[in-house]
Amino acid sequence: MANGMHLPVRKWVIDAGLGILRASGLSQAGARFAGGAGVVLMFHHVRPFDGAGFAPNRGLEIEPSFLDELIGLLRRKGLDIVSMDEARRRLEQGGRRFAVLTFDDGYRDNLTNALPILERHEAPFTLYVASGFADRISQLWWVDMELAIRQLDGFTMLRRQFLCRTAEEKSQSFIDLYWTLRDLREEDLRSAVRELAALAGIDSLQVVADLCMDWDEIGRMAAHALCTIGVHTITHPMLAKHPADLVRLEMSTSRRVIEEHIGKPAVHFAYPVGDRTSAGPRDFAIAEELGFSTAVTTRKGMLFPDHAKAMHALPRLSVNGEWQDLDKMDALLSGVPFLIWNRGRRVVTD
Ligand SMILES: [Zn+2]
Repeated sequence: MANGMHLPVRKWVIDAGLGILRASGLSQAGARFAGGAGVVLMFHHVRPFDGAGFAPNRGLEIEPSFLDELIGLLRRKGLDIVSMDEARRRLEQGGRRFAVLTFDDGYRDNLTNALPILERHEAPFTLYVASGFADRISQLWWVDMELAIRQLDGFTMLRRQFLCRTAEEKSQSFIDLYWTLRDLREEDLRSAVRELAALAGIDSLQVVADLCMDWDEIGRMAAHALCTIGVHTITHPMLAKHPADLVRLEMSTSRRVIEEHIGKPAVHFAYPVGDRTSAGPRDFAIAEELGFSTAVTTRKGMLFPDHAKAMHALPRLSVNGEWQDLDKMDALLSGVPFLIWNRGRRVVTD
């Protein structure tokens, strides 16, 4: 999962970037400077949208048809779709412009809905697995929050009252509670969501079993010629909030568990949540020290040759379910909105 709920701020910046592109026709010229060597695209769920009025995690899902169209767009733009291994090689040695397709968390719909599309396009992809989801020992707390708030008409938490009678109230309560919890220690966030889930009668481990692949399904993915299995920790913590020994344990144990299950090395890593508050320079250093070949964040940006020196702090382009629009994706792939977002810096590692 990535923090799709940062949306209001990012949307403003990206809309500004898109406006500049449209107004000045910079798209072509800008692409040469801003578009870089390639891009890592980030996906979560790939499934038909059920049309619910209250869908606070909407950013984390796209329709299968949009994945299909987007791969078509990448190919029309002349981007090679490559594995993470090949992306690393091209950053170090050069080569044609490329895109990497990455899927976080290990959702079952990646197997049932995305894989047939990826096969049809012969598109390599990387799947970042959180071993605790496959083992059914860790919760998808942002999904539990959604399911609980959908059930409840209101609740009191952290001495605040949250109203949830209408879709609007539910959306507002979700955003308010989400950002309140994100500022807390992770243990307090998790315990608050457990309390909320219990109040609504949500069985958190059943939610994980319903949504995430088990080891048998992950094994089928791992055996597929197009698939690279990457590592996404055990419990999906915001690593930067935790002591270094826990960060090492989460990274190295999940890697060992995944490698034992799939019977081959898993050398690519993705930081859970992955924004500035969840993965920082200390965590980049630990991923490198543990021998991961690459590590991706959810910081926004394109890849440039200088990223060969920042292989454990790679940015991504989140394919956000709120904007399943090829024109917007086309403009984002120019890289110009990200240069605005990153204030002109192409490589950001602090
Ligand atoms: Zn994740």
